[in-house]
Amino acid sequence: MTRSSIFMTFIVGMILAGCGPEPDTFLNNKVIAHRGAWKAEGLPQNSLASLKQAIDIGCMGSEFDVWMTADGILILNHDADYDSLVMETSTYEQILALRLPNGERLPTVEEVLRKGMSQNKTKLIMEVKPSKISTERGQELATKAVEMVHKMGAQKWVDYITFDKHIGSKIIELDPDANVAYLMGDKTPQELKDEGYFGFDYNIRVLRENPHWIQEAHDLGLTVNCWTVNKKEDMEWLLDNNVEFITTDEPEMLLELVNK
Ligand code: MG
Repeated sequence: MTRSSIFMTFIVGMILAGCGPEPDTFLNNKVIAHRGAWKAEGLPQNSLASLKQAIDIGCMGSEFDVWMTADGILILNHDADYDSLVMETSTYEQILALRLPNGERLPTVEEVLRKGMSQNKTKLIMEVKPSKISTERGQELATKAVEMVHKMGAQKWVDYITFDKHIGSKIIELDPDANVAYLMGDKTPQELKDEGYFGFDYNIRVLRENPHWIQEAHDLGLTVNCWTVNKKEDMEWLLDNNVEFITTDEPEMLLELVNK
């Protein structure tokens, strides 16, 4: 390579780097929209519309649930099934026939990552669902999820959450730099720290019963998230305890509280 071609490569690289949104300017307001921001506007959960709404109202994160179809496509849905189809035993082609109430198809993870990566305010909180077929299939889903995030260069946009300790360990093994939080509520902060987690994301009842876990997590450098927090008194209690994230179906209410 000549000196001038190295220089040109450098200049082209600088120009290209300036084209996309900078991925390090995410909001930091603790508000995670649970399955997107759907409730106030009557949008479907786990839709591109509810993700867009979470971005538009300025949530720092938008959560969504992921299953793997019989033919290995990663798809958004909360439950194991939708209408008459079971996610894990249906092909993507079969699922393509389904419609959400707003006319959208069930989004793929690829579509959600693309939408998320078109902006740089709202992170994507990917819940990797445990497989009902086998532990191994859950780990296969986790592997495909990490591969997809890396293939698309979406690492900075995506945090992972899961109820399944095998899925959690698999993601941490594949990407030790990934932010992975555990949902089940049965591990102490020290156990999570030892296993390489970024933090926990526990039910509000678990945290009300174990309030000391918040300080313990912070002392260990772990983050605290909590679901699904829809009551003002719970939001205020968590804000008083300086948690990092609050996952809610009422992101508008929480945004008002944090901006007060
Ligand atoms: Mg979820």
